[in-house]
Amino acid sequence: MPNYKLLTPGPLTTTDTVKKEMLFDHCTWDDDYKKITLSIREKLLNLAHVSEPEYTVVLMQGSGTFGVESVLTSVIGGEEDTLLIAANGAYGERMGDIARHAGIHYLMYEEDYNKIPSAEKIREILAEHPEITHVSMVHSETTSGILNDIASVAKVVKGAGKTFIVDAMSSFGGVDIPVGDLEIDFIISSANKCIQGVPGFSFIICNREKLMESKGKARSLSLDLYDQWETMNKDGKWRFTSPTHVVLAFAQALKEMEEEGGIVARAKRYEENNRLLIQKMAEMGIRPYIGSEHQGPIITTFLYPEHHNFSFQDMYQYIKDRGYAIYPGKVTDADTFRIGNIGEIYKEDIEKLCSIIKEFLEER
Ligand SMILES: *Cc1c(COP(=O)(O)O)cnc(C)c1O
Repeated sequence: MPNYKLLTPGPLTTTDTVKKEMLFDHCTWDDDYKKITLSIREKLLNLAHVSEPEYTVVLMQGSGTFGVESVLTSVIGGEEDTLLIAANGAYGERMGDIARHAGIHYLMYEEDYNKIPSAEKIREILAEHPEITHVSMVHSETTSGILNDIASVAKVVKGAGKTFIVDAMSSFGGVDIPVGDLEIDFIISSANKCIQGVPGFSFIICNREKLMESKGKARSLSLDLYDQWETMNKDGKWRFTSPTHVVLAFAQALKEMEEEGGIVARAKRYEENNRLLIQKMAEMGIRPYIGSEHQGPIITTFLYPEHHNFSFQDMYQYIKDRGYAIYPGKVTDADTFRIGNIGEIYKEDIEKLCSIIKEFLEER
């Protein structure tokens, strides 16, 4: 099968050295392996600018949604707790789905997909609904590519004394987040996004006190955040089978991230990729769906070009035949497609992609 690079927001294109780590079948109860897990946890705390004992880390088997579901179903109690979800895309709405399935009391604050949730509006909702105990939102809404303002929401939520939960799946590691300064209580991401590992587990950076308070509250056995932490915190052993190959690849991905220059260097590369992409697409008359003040550096939603008989499927195939895979649109109110610029992607890739798109449009 001819290979292609992924211009999708995770799974994304990883390095050969990350993939190569997976050639080793590691023993799970071996001390060397447990040390790898412990070292990953320590490095994740550093990336979040927090440390023990205020904060701690849990790694959870499964894709990113498993991590979000683990937090929501483990830390929000029964009758006494209510969750407010601020949503402006499919991933925010998915939190509502999770809450509904688990029988969690929740309220939705839904915003248009091209607008960020307003901290002022959240302040009003909290004042109107004193029963709210937890607030959750998405940082980089991968549905559209918008980057939400978690800092101003954090101020309101923490000022009101509520627990703040952030899905930073597609931003953690690619956008610097001062988790401790913002007093975020639970922040969730996964192995296959900006740290550039392969899919298989999510990770949650937790305010330790809040995690302790969740003991015994979980609605699910396998997604019990506290139980997972309790086992892992002893000596790095995972509760239930761990995704060993994925863990080894992730440890390598973290090492390569350090070599690149940490979050600062990676964020710069992503931003430059993103800026170049938007500029080159504009030269072809293709415009982003999100206004420039809220466009994030991870993925961009583009409106279909005003081109007689434009077909996304044809363009997708044309690009794929030439070495890249892009993404269909996910917003509900416009015809769009998406291009991610995270992963092992450089300026040359963006230039090549844009010349392929130019060729495609000229040939029609
Ligand atoms: C990728 C992603 C998720 C998790 O999706 P999975 O398919 O379960 O990995 C959740 N939220 C956001 C914002 C994402 O980008």
